[in-house]
Amino acid sequence: MAGRDALYIPGPTNVPDRVTRAMQRAQVDHRSAEFPELTRSVLSRLPAVFGSTAGTAFVFPSSGSAMWEAALVNTLDPGDRVLLVRGGQFAHLWGVAARGLGFAVDTIEAPWGTGVPLDALAAALRADAAHAIKAVCVVHNETSTGVTSDISAVRRVLDAERHPALLHVDGVSAIASIPFALDAWGVDCAITGSQKGFMLPAGLGVLCVSPRALARIDQATSPRAYFDLRPMRASNQTGYFPSTPATTLLYGLREALDMLEEEGLDAVYARHARLAAGTRAAVHAWGLSLCARHAPEHSPTITTVLTPPTLDGARVVAHAFARYRLSLGAGLGELAGKCFRIGHLGDLNELMLAGALAGVELVLADLGHPVTLGSGVGAALAHWRS
Ligand SMILES: *Cc1c(COP(=O)(O)O)cnc(C)c1O
Repeated sequence: MAGRDALYIPGPTNVPDRVTRAMQRAQVDHRSAEFPELTRSVLSRLPAVFGSTAGTAFVFPSSGSAMWEAALVNTLDPGDRVLLVRGGQFAHLWGVAARGLGFAVDTIEAPWGTGVPLDALAAALRADAAHAIKAVCVVHNETSTGVTSDISAVRRVLDAERHPALLHVDGVSAIASIPFALDAWGVDCAITGSQKGFMLPAGLGVLCVSPRALARIDQATSPRAYFDLRPMRASNQTGYFPSTPATTLLYGLREALDMLEEEGLDAVYARHARLAAGTRAAVHAWGLSLCARHAPEHSPTITTVLTPPTLDGARVVAHAFARYRLSLGAGLGELAGKCFRIGHLGDLNELMLAGALAGVELVLADLGHPVTLGSGVGAALAHWRS
């Protein structure tokens, strides 16, 4: 089909031409005397994107979910207990990873479509008078449901219960798109990957670690090798990496950091909020509903749209791609077939998203859902003009 494919999945996201050009270069010697310039320009600027001046950033050649493992094995002892809030597929998979690594996982079940249940969290912490729970694991923006949890409120619960557990946050579909304040929220490890808010191809896992968690990496006794932060920290301090870094992606990341700084993080966050609100206006105009139940938890980066029993969400996704080369996210885990997801994060604007919303309308009409063509697009445009 002529024209560009439309990529509206929540990662990989569109790679800006500037970033593509920054990566289009001959390979470099990662042991050269010049290489530390690149390392430093990236590692020194990353913490700001996590809302941190005190934290230390790490970058691995991996996808984002590898950082689930890095956060756990570098801060915990074998068999340690962690408390994980399971409100969607990504939280579920983090729990699977934690169990696979031999940690004892206490799970708080949050109905999919809702965020971290603060009362249940407080109760679980209060019941742990012996402080056996060593880390609380929460997903900031649950990409399967389109729910953003309030991490500052999670911190307030930990403080109110005077519980010393570390706070680990999966920010994969949040960092660089939704406000994040690692220092202010007392987050110990925040994780992301390159192919979401950073607008890069997949291939980098990015971790930002608080001073408290950084002190833990020398005490933690969990077995670890590739994701051991100790040799990484030692090499990074000299501007190098213990093994071959993904140099091409680091050039891309340097350019992406330039772009984020030029637009300004606050403007980036406001743009995502605006695009998401327009998308939700379209969903309501189509007569469909959101998976995210509570307005304050509506995600700025991903909208999960529930489909009625007459409309299989998987068919929406399949038809969108086959007929219009429009990629939407499918329902994951418990939500398989019951929804489709519109990703709106990274390098995009109103006109691009209006095209995707037009595509969704065509798909809905093709599949027999009663929709007035232009209704959703019109609602989004009206929102963006207001
Ligand atoms: C995409 C995503 C992941 C997984 O990242 P990969 O890079 O695919 O490993 C984890 N958590 C959340 C919330 C995500 O959106």
